[in-house]
Amino acid sequence: MSKPKVAFYWCASCGGCEETVVDLAEDILGVVEAVDIVLWPVAMDFKYKEIEDMPDKSITATLLNGAVRSTEQEEMAHLMRRKSQFLIAYGSCAVNGGIPGLANQFTREQILKYNYEDAPTLGNGGQKIRPQLKSTEDGRELSLPELHNVVRSLDQVVEVDYYVPGCPPTPNITKTAITALLEGRLPPKGSVLAPDIALCEECDRKASKPTNLAFTEFKRTHQKLIDPTQCLLAQGVVCMGPATRSGCGAQCLGGNMPCTGCFGPTSRVRDQGLKIMSSLCANVAPKEEGDISKVLEGIPDPIGTFYRYGLAKSMLRRKVNLPANGK
Ligand code: SF4
Ligand code: SF4
Repeated sequence: MSKPKVAFYWCASCGGCEETVVDLAEDILGVVEAVDIVLWPVAMDFKYKEIEDMPDKSITATLLNGAVRSTEQEEMAHLMRRKSQFLIAYGSCAVNGGIPGLANQFTREQILKYNYEDAPTLGNGGQKIRPQLKSTEDGRELSLPELHNVVRSLDQVVEVDYYVPGCPPTPNITKTAITALLEGRLPPKGSVLAPDIALCEECDRKASKPTNLAFTEFKRTHQKLIDPTQCLLAQGVVCMGPATRSGCGAQCLGGNMPCTGCFGPTSRVRDQGLKIMSSLCANVAPKEEGDISKVLEGIPDPIGTFYRYGLAKSMLRRKVNLPANGK
């Protein structure tokens, strides 16, 4: 019997999710033994044409990481969807838009202008040259993918069967997902393959989480010595744990750092950023506007704090003057 075919692909990605597959360490040998890898650009040389020539649905599963930002990524998302029985959004960027989704605060024009014309670190001898979509060299025409105006999560582009959250997903959660896939023990379509409870439930500091919070200030991690035994919120440090899905083993908390929300919300939360914002703001101690503003000054980057991984999939989603279809 032929082995199941598996593909790994990356779109707008930092490569960290690809590292997680390698982080399976010796377990990766079992995976490689059990499947035929038909596409894995970060590690092996395959050609897109080979995938295009395969019959539709002939790949058992594609684990796709990264958000969708360019025309090439959109084409690949459609191609992998067509060729795969299961398309799995792997990692925060594919699941919720992730860090690349923060670019939705700006238009494509603002991004290109800053990076190729205004950035203080610009090279090119001060020439303001932008990448051209088409150019010719030695008589051959070269083309580049075009950036869309809006960064999208994978399921905002094609239908997704399962979600594996995390930035990046842990080796444990990856192994569990791959094992469930190979053994045919998959939950209902559309499931997030991580526990559907808030991170606070698996945090060692849970017992010290106050039931009644009254914030008089917020501090960032470099501004105070953090007690490694006490709940971060009790110390005035923003922790996304109450609004974030568990499954990571609370590793950031173990390193004395707050949860930044990479596992996304549980199924009961529609908008992760709004959920934590509404709970924190309701518990600011001062009642006068000026005093409230002073407390909130301790969170200088609200979008980066509350929507670090989920802006593209949130109710805010993008700067309002961008077209809704992302182009
Ligand atoms: S989810 Fe995190 S590790 Fe994975 S590609 Fe996105 S930024 Fe990188
Ligand atoms: S808010 Fe953060 S530190 Fe406090 S219990 Fe929840 S996850 Fe742990």
